[in-house]
Amino acid sequence: MAYEAVWAADPSKLSKVELEKLEKDGLDVIRTIIEKYAHEGYDSITEDDMNRFKWAGVYQQKPKDGHFMMRVRINSGIMTSDQARALADIAKLYGRDLVDVTTRQAIQFHWLRIENMPDIFKRLEAAGLYSYEACGDCPRTVVGNPLAGIDKQELMDTTALVNQVNDFFLLNRDFSNLPRKYKMSISSNIYNSGHAEIQCLAFTPATKEINGEEVIGFHVWVGGGLSAKPHLAKPLDMFVRPEEVLKVATGVTTIFRDYGYRQKRHHARLKFLVADWGPEKFRDKLVELIGEMPSRGNDKTVGWKAAYFDGVHPQKQEGLNYIGLSVPVGRLNADELIELARVSDTYGDKTIRTTVSQNIIISGVPDAKVEAALQEPVFERLTPNPKHFMSRTVSCTGNEFCNLAVVETKERATRVAEYLDANVELDEEIRIHFIGCPNSCGQKHVADIGLQGALVKTPEGMVDAFDIAVGGILGPGAQFNQALKGRVKGDDVGHVLAELIRFYKQNRSVEETFH
Ligand code: SF4
Repeated sequence: MAYEAVWAADPSKLSKVELEKLEKDGLDVIRTIIEKYAHEGYDSITEDDMNRFKWAGVYQQKPKDGHFMMRVRINSGIMTSDQARALADIAKLYGRDLVDVTTRQAIQFHWLRIENMPDIFKRLEAAGLYSYEACGDCPRTVVGNPLAGIDKQELMDTTALVNQVNDFFLLNRDFSNLPRKYKMSISSNIYNSGHAEIQCLAFTPATKEINGEEVIGFHVWVGGGLSAKPHLAKPLDMFVRPEEVLKVATGVTTIFRDYGYRQKRHHARLKFLVADWGPEKFRDKLVELIGEMPSRGNDKTVGWKAAYFDGVHPQKQEGLNYIGLSVPVGRLNADELIELARVSDTYGDKTIRTTVSQNIIISGVPDAKVEAALQEPVFERLTPNPKHFMSRTVSCTGNEFCNLAVVETKERATRVAEYLDANVELDEEIRIHFIGCPNSCGQKHVADIGLQGALVKTPEGMVDAFDIAVGGILGPGAQFNQALKGRVKGDDVGHVLAELIRFYKQNRSVEETFH
């Protein structure tokens, strides 16, 4: 494909990062890491290349003393037990045993050192896994339905489609220099397990009568995204057959590459282009690139379950079940992951699935083996029957490791969930999300209660605090949560949320939900 970016006509309007990207493609840093920095050490890394490390899926860890974090792409969140063991081995060897599940179904390591990278890349590749482009201005992990192929609530198995789109974009130099990060989801689950409205590009389940036949396919959404200026994706008037998904994804990504904004980093995501153009103009441009497409059919998304699957549930396949486990704030250790791989081999289909709610699913467990599987010790902490608030608490990395964080999040989130479980009873699930800065990796905007880290001045100095917003939801009727007035000191969050929930309980009307 010709790379005729319209922005290249006037480089004087490009941001500093854009100029760096023109000088050396982000993907080139992978080779530089392997051939140079891994031998010459941390101090030899140039500032420009450090910015490019993201294309390798690697970020500097706080406090920038030579340690790195790394994200590994897991397509649709579906990996084999062997891949899980390969990830656990890396965590054991180089990552101080820590394994985080992210809100894009990726696996995140910490504590890695530059000299470890070649071996880590090699181990990942041998397992058929990649960290490449899990970060950076490029197509990132393609999110999907973690239950793809076994889901009673999907119109079709999207595993192959997600893999096809992932394989096309991964390490594809036609698309390795986008204006900013670029997030896609493909899911055919009728409860929106791919969180379509917050993706740059999303495919959701739909049907359409074509030539007298009911065809299963997708609707297309563009321009969603969170951070300081959150946007809900807009639907295009378009029906996409499964075999056309890659064509549409390529067209949308081409538009972003060639027409996306590159002057200011905070105004570069696809959402800004879509907001300016509107869905009609965007569709026209897309059709110019890929040819005419049918108009929308019947939308099949009926609601949103926020990608929670805890408990034992029957699969599409008669006699088989999946077990949804709660991973408190998305963190487990390498031994737990190894255990889950063994449990999956022993009782299930040798598959482990990660969710955007930072949890894990074991699948393919025959009816006769469920009871025995549930006795496994690893399910004591990673339980299919989690406590109410702990099960619905999501947290980003926070200032334990993230250089952008204003406050600590994961430990705080755990303490708050434990406090609420000990002190509040409620007959409805409430999703609570913590983020350490406005970037919103923990997807605060879509939470029932979203907490964004900030600082507040006290007589004792500046202390961690949180802004609180309530009422976020995706699916039909999607809306971001609304900020409440005031800022709450970190140590008071548990107590304040308990009061907030009690107030709701006492004042709700019949059939009113927290949302
Ligand atoms: Fe870091 Fe902010 Fe993302 Fe949290 S939301 S992981 S603090 S960048």
